[in-house]
Amino acid sequence: MQLVVDTHTHTLVSGHAYSTVQENARAAKAKGLAMMAMTDHGPAMPGAPTWVYFENLKVIPPLLEGVRIIKGAEVNITDYQGRLDIPDTTLRKLDFAIASLHDLCLIPAGIEENTAAMIHVLRNPYIDGLAHPGNPQFPVAIDRVVAAAKQYHKLIELNNHSFTARAGSAPNCREFAVQCKAAGVRVICGSDAHFSTGVGEFDHVRRLLETVAMPEELMLNASAPRFEAYLQERKERIAKGDPGR
Ligand SMILES: [Zn+2]
Ligand SMILES: [Zn+2]
Repeated sequence: MQLVVDTHTHTLVSGHAYSTVQENARAAKAKGLAMMAMTDHGPAMPGAPTWVYFENLKVIPPLLEGVRIIKGAEVNITDYQGRLDIPDTTLRKLDFAIASLHDLCLIPAGIEENTAAMIHVLRNPYIDGLAHPGNPQFPVAIDRVVAAAKQYHKLIELNNHSFTARAGSAPNCREFAVQCKAAGVRVICGSDAHFSTGVGEFDHVRRLLETVAMPEELMLNASAPRFEAYLQERKERIAKGDPGR
């Protein structure tokens, strides 16, 4: 199966990544991608930019090297009540925002706390989905996280980088994939590239999607129009406001 959108990439601005957005776009084009989300880390990550960086992403052209650039962020969850490190006023101007737990930004807690943090974040209208929720450093009740994603029409990421960078992720990622399929929750596939050569690398997640026979319509990255339609859904959700908050 072909995945034509990469929903998770970093530029050197993240503080521990090493390519520019233009280099990433060139790599995306070479891999045959139609779209690439730039999702640099939020300010709580050591070395990451301030919120002002995310405010000014509009200066980047919508197309680079023929690849549609989605202006986004990987927002840090900074407490177990789901507090985030980029303000809502900035998040609402972005095309796309994924949120994640990192041990550099929050000390890992138990399953109850981690699960509560993810559910709080899924309720936030400015957040589109969870990045690498299968990270075993932050164990969660996968069934409850997937149920919340279903309830709030949010996305669960299957992160290619987790298979090599976050030891022990594979069984959790598989469980997320199986439960998303069963619940009809849409998944996104991110390379989580920290260097241009990693953009569009989906070997591990592609294998996982094939193993669990993920239905085509649940894979947002498999079709550029489907992902565009999701971005429109985000805009409408934000315009409406969310009664869950
Ligand atoms: Zn991350
Ligand atoms: Zn990342």
